[in-house]
Amino acid sequence: MHTADRLKKIPPYLFMELRNKISQARAAGIDVISLAIGDPVEPTPDVVIAELARAAHDPANHRYPTDEEKGMLAFRQAVSEWYGTRYGVHLDPATEVLALIGSKEGCHHFVLACVNPGDPVLMTDPGYPAYRASILIGGGEPVNVPIRGEHGYLPQLSDIPSDVARRAAAMFLNYPNNPTGATATPAFLREVVDFARQYDLAICYDNPYIEVTFDGEKPLSFLSVPGARDVGVELNSLSKPFNMTGWRLGMAVGNKDIIAAISQVKENTDSGVFNAIQFAGIAALQHCADNVAHMLDIYARRRVLVLKTLADIGIRFTPARGTFYLWVPVPRGLSSIEFATLLFEKAHVVVAAGTAYGQYGESFVRFSLTVADERLGEAMERIRKALA
Ligand SMILES: *Cc1c(COP(=O)(O)O)cnc(C)c1O
Repeated sequence: MHTADRLKKIPPYLFMELRNKISQARAAGIDVISLAIGDPVEPTPDVVIAELARAAHDPANHRYPTDEEKGMLAFRQAVSEWYGTRYGVHLDPATEVLALIGSKEGCHHFVLACVNPGDPVLMTDPGYPAYRASILIGGGEPVNVPIRGEHGYLPQLSDIPSDVARRAAAMFLNYPNNPTGATATPAFLREVVDFARQYDLAICYDNPYIEVTFDGEKPLSFLSVPGARDVGVELNSLSKPFNMTGWRLGMAVGNKDIIAAISQVKENTDSGVFNAIQFAGIAALQHCADNVAHMLDIYARRRVLVLKTLADIGIRFTPARGTFYLWVPVPRGLSSIEFATLLFEKAHVVVAAGTAYGQYGESFVRFSLTVADERLGEAMERIRKALA
């Protein structure tokens, strides 16, 4: 069968060898613990499940979603209230909010809505791999902008060559950042707005970890800085704060024209989110703020445990303040993939090699804190024993 060339442009998974070793070990009955994936194990709050069940019993919800390409007005209103109370951002639910099938869907449809074939699109390296895939499938040209620890993993916008910036259609940004955990500052966001104005770029500010911050760091919406909604949209999601990754519910907020363009794509592609899931999402936004606080306590505890274990094996560093990942420097003399392989072979613990997120991810691995406490405890004990 012949398939489209665009799929051949998506980089293959780089670490086949490690992946094969993991599946062989699992097949041989070895208890492998994976800290490689960010997907909360704790259940979705009960009120959300109950609301899904209620709404699923209502035949009115069995039909195509209401206002299919935008999401139900009640959901958009709940998002707008959440943004007002949590981030001080006031949104018009009629024009500035759109329901998404998760923020990943939003990234993809943002490209289809804003990028012409051949247009360069800026993204950070390291960065979330789905941006590159979406840019490529949409016919754009990904342009990597390095982010480095010495600048707090924020891109140095003035280092981007102006001819590249001028030709570029859009830029993806993501803080709290996957994989580095770095957070942004209002000053940086103001710089982004100026940069986007100067070069006429559409900003896609992917913010699914906005609620996942530590050590006193406050949630920061891109839209909280002046002018942001003139230049871009923020994508957000119920996946991470409410343990709802499987439910597929998120939102795009901000620039009306981009929102309208993404809804036009959706109208012709997916027809929107199941109403019952949107009702469940409303319940999460209205009644589950305490779940967010509860999860942050759990992650904060796990973070301390992992940092302590790493210190015990000689890896000491100051973690960034966002996301439920730790971006861990590998011991001198080893590459990311060598250290990940070592952890797997000696402790049967899987972590993500930094180079999975781009060449500037070299010398780091990413630990995820979204595994059950007892599994994480076991993983840390194995690492301590194997590498002490
Ligand atoms: C988890 C994640 C997403 C996907 O979120 P969904 O809302 O579940 O699609 C998007 N962007 C980044 C950076 C993520 O880590």
